[in-house]
Amino acid sequence: MKKIKILILILGLAGRSFQPYHKEARLMLGTIVEITCQDRAAITSAFEEIKKIETIANNFNPDSEISRLNAAGKIQAGEDLFNMVRESLKYYRLSEGAFDITVGPLASIWKEKIREAENNVRGLTLPAGSQIKKALSLVGSDKISLDDNSSFISLTQSGMSIDLGAIAKGYAVDKAVRRLKESGVRSALVNAGGNVYCLGKKGSRKWRVGVRHPRKPAEIVFYLDLENQGAATSGDYEQFFILDKKRYSHIINPKTGWPVDNNISSVTIIAPDAATSDGLSTTVFVLGKEKGLELAEKMDGVEVKIIEN
Ligand code: ADP
Ligand code: MG
Repeated sequence: MKKIKILILILGLAGRSFQPYHKEARLMLGTIVEITCQDRAAITSAFEEIKKIETIANNFNPDSEISRLNAAGKIQAGEDLFNMVRESLKYYRLSEGAFDITVGPLASIWKEKIREAENNVRGLTLPAGSQIKKALSLVGSDKISLDDNSSFISLTQSGMSIDLGAIAKGYAVDKAVRRLKESGVRSALVNAGGNVYCLGKKGSRKWRVGVRHPRKPAEIVFYLDLENQGAATSGDYEQFFILDKKRYSHIINPKTGWPVDNNISSVTIIAPDAATSDGLSTTVFVLGKEKGLELAEKMDGVEVKIIEN
């Protein structure tokens, strides 16, 4: 009897490992989200989780939870919004303010410039110093108040706004992975625009993920072999504009109000989960090499790869 059971178990495992992998891609969270695993129904259900996070964190939709918080300055937050803000405050403290989701007003100014450049607007100029100064006065995550008991979030200065762009994709990937696991999936790859999580192995090997060269988009600069790990890359090469030979990207130094300018073109973080790799990749990008590596070294299961200009 026991032998039969063991045989059935082995057949069961072998059956799963021979099933083909399916890959589905959808436009979500302002990027391409891909899920690869052997169970189509599980993929559909994992995308629902990603959609949920997109609906909460989308600054462009005035009805999203984040937009309602920004408009009213307070909200009784759902679990996911509360978690994302709480997680972001962790990086704010760890980085002494280099990671700061209250960069909203600054991010809007610089993203508008990037959009103008993409649309080849003539006579592109830098934002006025006074405009940056005004937006800068609204920045500072110490002005966010969180109540763990009531899940109430309030922004204590009027005009402040939160931008979850540096953490939402990683958080969404982790939610999708949790849903895949609940569906019984043991091997999967979820990728939201370079924010990945590799669940288990692919067959007998770890998942292999290529990271693009920040200055030569057709080239893979290195490969990561991952198993039950997240990874993310933050860089100045996807959203940026160039004016008078200088590059201005979408990652902002919250102390100056200007795009980060520190000789780094990309930071890749490997971490135990995708939210950590997303949050930390932006954090290390802003902190710069020395302070960034110092912070990452203190964290368990974290590896950093920095590419300089
Ligand atoms: P991407 O979203 O392109 O993958 P990141 O994860 O590094 O890149 O997030 C960059 C986004 O985070 C910006 O588009 C902006 O919305 C927001 N952001 C910019 N600077 C900061 C910062 N210092 N701290 C937190 N969020 C930031
Ligand atoms: Mg990030």
